[in-house]
Amino acid sequence: MQINEFLIEDSTKYQSLKKVYYLIYEHGPISKVDIQMMTNLKHTTLVRIIDELLSHHFIFESGLGISSGGRPPVLYEIVHNRGYLFGIDLSRTHTTIALLDLKLSIIDKFSFPMTKTHSPEIVIEKMINTVKKHMQIHKLKIDDLIGIGIGSVGPLERKQGMILNPDSFPSDGWSHVPIVPLLEKEFTVKVLLENGANTAAFGENKHLSVKGQDILYCISGVGLRCGMLVNGQAVQNKTGVASSFGHMIVDIGGRKCICGRKGCLLAYTSLESMKKQINEHIAAGGNSVLSQSENLTFEHLIHAIKLGDEIVESVIMDSAYYYGIGVANMINFMHPDHVLFNGPLIYDYPPYYEKIVKTAKKYMFNTHENAIFFSKGALKEDAVPIGAAALLFNSFFSER
Ligand SMILES: [Zn+2]
Repeated sequence: MQINEFLIEDSTKYQSLKKVYYLIYEHGPISKVDIQMMTNLKHTTLVRIIDELLSHHFIFESGLGISSGGRPPVLYEIVHNRGYLFGIDLSRTHTTIALLDLKLSIIDKFSFPMTKTHSPEIVIEKMINTVKKHMQIHKLKIDDLIGIGIGSVGPLERKQGMILNPDSFPSDGWSHVPIVPLLEKEFTVKVLLENGANTAAFGENKHLSVKGQDILYCISGVGLRCGMLVNGQAVQNKTGVASSFGHMIVDIGGRKCICGRKGCLLAYTSLESMKKQINEHIAAGGNSVLSQSENLTFEHLIHAIKLGDEIVESVIMDSAYYYGIGVANMINFMHPDHVLFNGPLIYDYPPYYEKIVKTAKKYMFNTHENAIFFSKGALKEDAVPIGAAALLFNSFFSER
């Protein structure tokens, strides 16, 4: 039996097999005694299930545990290269296609920037070609492929697997894109679509780098996105949108936002808003190493700060302050255990991250500042594709 057949099996016969397999996936290396304690399966039934999983090479004996008097127990782990997944990160700035094994280690990945020419047709064609190319390079057959998880910018229509009408894509045409059916048609495997902020949160949680089960995950790239896990599960709002976080009002009657309203967080924190402010300072005769430009990137901003550019520094730090207030509002609403941050400035300009956390702590309501754990995402830019693959893999087990 192939792993892809096993995972899509729905019959009762396979339910306990899949249950035991999942426990070994989650907790391995693990002994029979420990599995039995978690499942209440009869010993003989468990032995039969383990034998069957071994015979299909879905699991293997990975060593011996600590003896509690008698013979040391045999430990089991899943065979991590018994099948493969693809995780895709589709954002406004780039698309990344990653090939992963069952332990969610990235075997290979390919990224390309999103430009004015990257219409849905072109991007999906590139995705398909990359998946095919990776499969060829790593000599994988279609039976080895379990599925494809996509972490995308929302809003989404999950049932139909469609990206609806996200804002700020550089290319036209990103409206009602049926990405899931298109990929399913090409590869005849399960394809899952979720917003990238949620997949990133899920990826970090699977990576065991997070504290607790209630997670707030904030991405500051071109815009702002935030994902949430409650009890370890992605909070799936109806529209699949993660960007509405950016339209939280932080200053009534404040700066104009791209949505047409005033005082949204995004109007203080997006790359576009920072560029606008920097350009205004320069136009007013301010002294900057940058010249007025439409094409400033995060790299330009970080480079300018390193050269001692005070205008850029003050704009970025001002933005961190507003961002911190937005995060405090989210904390006051959600009471997470752990808040994680991801984005170019988070990783490449430490004072930005520190200011956000300091401000968030200052405005948290009635919460001891050590009660919530803050950190940068450990998986960095791989969080979205790893989490997308992880969510897909989990979907084979969570539906029953
Ligand atoms: Zn807005």
